[in-house]
Amino acid sequence: MTVARIGILGAGTMGRGIAQVAALGGYETRLYDAYPDAARDAAVKLREALAKGASRGRWSEAEAEVASNRIGPALEIGQLAGCEMLIEAAPEDVELKRKLFGEAAAVCGPEAILASNTSSLRVSDIAVGVPDPERLVGMHFFNPPVLMKLVEVVAAERSAEWALEATTEVALAMGRTPIRAKDSPGFVANRLARPFALESLRMLGDGIADAATIDRIVRLGGGFRMGPFELIDLIGLDVNLTIARSFFAQGGQLERWRPNPIQERLVEEGKLGRKSGQGYYAYGEGVERQADPELDIDAPTLDPEQLALVDPAASEVLSRLFAQIANEAAFAREEEIASPADMDTALRLGLNWPLGPLGFAAEIGPERAVAVLEGLRAEKGEAYRPAPRLRAEAAAVRGS
Ligand code: NAD
Repeated sequence: MTVARIGILGAGTMGRGIAQVAALGGYETRLYDAYPDAARDAAVKLREALAKGASRGRWSEAEAEVASNRIGPALEIGQLAGCEMLIEAAPEDVELKRKLFGEAAAVCGPEAILASNTSSLRVSDIAVGVPDPERLVGMHFFNPPVLMKLVEVVAAERSAEWALEATTEVALAMGRTPIRAKDSPGFVANRLARPFALESLRMLGDGIADAATIDRIVRLGGGFRMGPFELIDLIGLDVNLTIARSFFAQGGQLERWRPNPIQERLVEEGKLGRKSGQGYYAYGEGVERQADPELDIDAPTLDPEQLALVDPAASEVLSRLFAQIANEAAFAREEEIASPADMDTALRLGLNWPLGPLGFAAEIGPERAVAVLEGLRAEKGEAYRPAPRLRAEAAAVRGS
């Protein structure tokens, strides 16, 4: 299957970004939206965005011009005829996505690849009732697509290898880094990142440190660009809570994925983060983050001497965080949701982590991770149950 023309279904945040990388990758790109004005507007805005990218040196002016000319609106679904691939970036609603793929597939014929950018639905569920479901795959981009290199190519139960391979090739041509993912809750990057928010919230609830201190420790000692509470405030507490609830439901109510009561309370109070002016921090005039102290930490570390320079709570915060990251990665490896190398790639390129989860697991080591988890499990319960794989690795270290 050679792809030359791509139809994008949904011209919102993600659809526009995907259209931009598609056009830069050499594809004729048609943007379709339930609101024709949204598709028209997106094409105009993308021309501006491409020109702006050229002025910043991301690509040349000639490339911007060529890419702009490849993008056009599809004002009704029939105008997607001739597209060999459809990438769906419509609202996160399984019925809506099924219906949309059904309508678009009727226009494009049985050979067109159907790729969904869903971030939380099962791709196999979207495929139910869609004609020729073996050509339907997941193609999960990260926001904003033009800056984030990762694309998770998700194999649904009935996805054919040819469709997965063609999707991988398209992602490569778009200048992305594709990885292969199993159709499991949240796929790879978002799932492996669960402990970042959830364990930080549990530590806040346990009174280990306040949100600003946990953020500073995670930035300075963990090497993350933003602390967990700064990130949740940026994403929106309500959005983050919806994600947490979706994981909890899809995972069969696993304790380690249980949504946090502090976050539930704040959302009920309308404290949604930056967009509402108040989340874990208050936003408004004169409110600024204090400068981080100058420390010579250049990589994530659990070195007690260095961490003592950050904060007295740093060692405990990072041990708990790294142990839970290692644990989630061990569960994910048992379930084979992706290759180990792809797990690290996913977090570095999808969410800008300084190390992948296996890198953090190596930093803490299986023995210490299990000891931290077992200590907490005795006190707090099943959210800290170590993965059998992590225990086995710890036992192997002890035996060697
Ligand atoms: P969005 O709300 O910005 O855009 C959705 C667009 O779809 C809107 O322009 C809307 O008018 C259009 N639309 C609604 N119903 C439609 C229909 N029946 N047919 C065609 N178009 C329709 O949403 P978004 O943030 O771009 O998310 C889109 C998808 O991408 C979702 O599945 C989401 O889970 C996924 N995703 C989002 C992000 C993110 O950070 N925003 C990241 C990865 C994946």
